[in-house]
Amino acid sequence: MKSINPYTGDTVFEAQSHGHAAIEAALTRAVHAVQKLKAMGMDARLDALRRAADILDDQRDDIAELMTREMGKPIKQARAEVEKCAWVCRYYADEAPDMLKPDPIEAPEKGECSLHHLPIGPVFAVMPWNFPFWQVFRFAAPNLAVGNPGLLKHASAVPGSALKIAHVLSKAGFPEGAFQTLLIGSDKTETIITDDRIRGVTLTGSEGAGSAVASLAGKAIKPSVMELGGSDAFIVMPSADLDKAVESAVTARTQNNGQSCIAAKRFIIHQDIYEAFTAKFVQSMKALKIGDPMDDSTDIGPLSSADAADEVYDLVRQTIDGGARVLFAPERKDRAFLTPGVLADIPRGTPGHDAEIFAPVALMFKAEDVDHAIAIANNHPYGLGSSFWSKDKNEIETACTDLEAGSTYVNQMVASDPRLPFGGVKKSGYGRELARDGLLAFTNPKTIAIT
Ligand code: NDP
Repeated sequence: MKSINPYTGDTVFEAQSHGHAAIEAALTRAVHAVQKLKAMGMDARLDALRRAADILDDQRDDIAELMTREMGKPIKQARAEVEKCAWVCRYYADEAPDMLKPDPIEAPEKGECSLHHLPIGPVFAVMPWNFPFWQVFRFAAPNLAVGNPGLLKHASAVPGSALKIAHVLSKAGFPEGAFQTLLIGSDKTETIITDDRIRGVTLTGSEGAGSAVASLAGKAIKPSVMELGGSDAFIVMPSADLDKAVESAVTARTQNNGQSCIAAKRFIIHQDIYEAFTAKFVQSMKALKIGDPMDDSTDIGPLSSADAADEVYDLVRQTIDGGARVLFAPERKDRAFLTPGVLADIPRGTPGHDAEIFAPVALMFKAEDVDHAIAIANNHPYGLGSSFWSKDKNEIETACTDLEAGSTYVNQMVASDPRLPFGGVKKSGYGRELARDGLLAFTNPKTIAIT
């Protein structure tokens, strides 16, 4: 298994992938780790999470470089990602004791009743390359706090990051088997998902991968969390602060080189401000600095691979050939570069209308009023996040109620945060990560009634 730097074409990391015997040994270690994590007790587990946070802080720059070299994200964003991983470790280290307290239940004739939150055992995580550390830490921190061992199958594109994560957690003091990385392709996941020793499955990635993994988990009757694609709406109404909305829109579309599930992808702008918003937005998109992701001043680096750039450029071309108007032309440049772009009048039936564009290409829609804007937003298979810009209380209330999404952020872009539950509806998946919901996702909510 090897990772290729999408900017230079160099091999970053190479290692032998794991075969059947290694998978079997990892499953056995994971089962033994259940008892080890239990014997550690919660306080010691949380201390280990705090040490993991310290290691991440100490090694921030090296880890950030590794991520940037493996998948091309701008280095300043990679550093911020490592800091966020340290934050999620400290967040659960501080909050887990209160969050895991049993919930009392009033049913006096049944005695003293309560709901306890107990670990379920090893959880298998299939993760993507776009946030190589964050996507894994937001799964690992709550599960290790609860006492569930984690078994990671990371994206094949980031084996260096995958092994580094396991190393950080081991160095932090988690016992053998508590968190393991398996270097395997997706063809090896079925035997793991269906193995009785695995008690839960989580996946972040595409709809296709989610459907395949969720089907297997369902067949084996295991809880699963699916965090899948998104084509988030970014709605701007006339009363909004236009400059602030434009600035946020650019960041929301282009962060992580446009490869984020919660990136704003569809910009639904009220007709009264459509021309003004679009003109400023295109101007700001044109001003972004494209180049070497290791350079601190770079805003946009290459996509994760030349193949990924070819695939998404094909979706963009289909959208243009289908009739979309080009306001700022995205260009497929050398290596893995796909430069920012803005398309308008997106026809139904094109990928820009119906799918997810995982690249810094924005799709503009014009709305007559708030209901029309929400109807456009909801007319999509995905429902991950949504961002709504207005100063009108009634409009805000309507948007918060009617937008079909796992979250609505008002007058700000969508951003994941350890304190806020994260997840989607419709084809964006189910279940929630982060906050208390993420901590309880793979617990046994056990009812206790004592007379
Ligand atoms: P994938 O969904 O293919 O990859 C995510 C993870 O799932 C990887 O570990 C991958 O393994 C694994 N995987 C893929 N197919 C299967 C399967 N059938 N069974 C089990 N595991 C599987 O994403 P890609 O990297 O191919 O990206 C394609 C598209 O997915 C993007 O353009 C974007 O639309 C979406 N995506 C969304 C993300 C999000 O954050 N919501 C993140 C990444 C992608 P392997 O790498 O070995 O193939």
